[in-house]
Amino acid sequence: MGTLFIVPTPIGNLEDITLRALRILREAALIAAEDTRRSRVLTRHFDINTPMTSYHEHNKLSKLDEIFAALETADVALISDAGTPGISDPGFELIAAALEGGYDVVPLPGACAVTTALIGSGLATDSFRYVGFLPRKTAALRERLASLKDGRETIVAYESPYRLADTLTLIAEVLGAARRVCVARELSKKFERFYRGSARELRDHFAADNPRGEVTLVIAGADPDDASWTAEQVRAALNERLAAGEALSRAARDVAKSAGWSKNKVYQLGIRDD
Ligand code: SAM
Repeated sequence: MGTLFIVPTPIGNLEDITLRALRILREAALIAAEDTRRSRVLTRHFDINTPMTSYHEHNKLSKLDEIFAALETADVALISDAGTPGISDPGFELIAAALEGGYDVVPLPGACAVTTALIGSGLATDSFRYVGFLPRKTAALRERLASLKDGRETIVAYESPYRLADTLTLIAEVLGAARRVCVARELSKKFERFYRGSARELRDHFAADNPRGEVTLVIAGADPDDASWTAEQVRAALNERLAAGEALSRAARDVAKSAGWSKNKVYQLGIRDD
């Protein structure tokens, strides 16, 4: 019985293919490719002559029999147009069905826009949440962002360059104008560039200049100490309550809730003002 190899391919720079990926693609009896025409450019470049069959979003279920028939006697390599199969690309169903059918599945490490954008963003890498492509419709996008708002993990999302400005506008609105964001454009390609700043800064930048090429968005997680109110606003709200006779502890608790500050920080501000 053969093995199903999951083989990442470059997301732009052909040098990012690994030696192991080249060997597996050469030695497999069959390559299942998302778009055979696109993938032939890659295999031709590396002088790989393995037969290819298409495996894409619209035929992925009907292709299982053909791929499993090949797997009975030989190895099959699964590739997508670019990057890691299964990551916002076809692959998951085949992998799950192959495991279910008792076949060996071997994933290769390699190029992926998610991790490349994340490590270049300068935002926290200890814990992150990949959310795939963000919804296209404004109402659904707003809802999705609201559901992500309080998460502490860094968020990584794929987005179309045409929707980037509108998406950044909603990020500033729903997650806050000060939320740190990084737009990673054209990773590993000639015009690779990282745009880092607050949601407001990047919104303003891209409102005037839609980027060309592919983009991945990295958004900082919620910071519990993030002030959605300024110190002046907090002080004013606190003073109002104290003037009305409220105890500092209770006033700090209530103001903290509205301000998005920790109770302790508001309390400290109250003490300093005493
Ligand atoms: N499976 C791929 C991977 O492992 O990265 C992702 C495939 S998904 C269909 C394509 C999306 O990935 C693009 O729309 C873009 O958001 C992101 N992407 C792919 N290549 C990129 C690159 N070179 N620079 C920035 N983003 C990229």
